Amino acid sequence: MSQIQCSNCNSYKTLSETKSYKIKVTTWCFIFGLLLYYMGYINETASAGFIMLIAVCLLGVSVVFLVFTFTHRTDRFKCKSCGYKWEGTITNDEPKDI
Ligand SMILES: [Zn+2]
Repeated sequence: MSQIQCSNCNSYKTLSETKSYKIKVTTWCFIFGLLLYYMGYINETASAGFIMLIAVCLLGVSVVFLVFTFTHRTDRFKCKSCGYKWEGTITNDEPKDI
């Protein structure tokens, strides 16, 4: 994998938080949403509606994240030298020595 240069301090000690991060968030939101929805579904108290509202919100967030993952082909980067964070796309270009 090619190294990404930090645009803040020009260091090459960078980390890329790839799509696995987004997919993880999506999966957990979806699982928690389903669990909460089920809890609200089997719960017959007055708080059930509130629990299901949160569940629907979590499911909504997971859907938004899923759409975002596939429409925005950007990745997050973090510089280990200065802590600078940014978003961008990883190009398939080979790193060139100037
Ligand atoms: Zn930096």
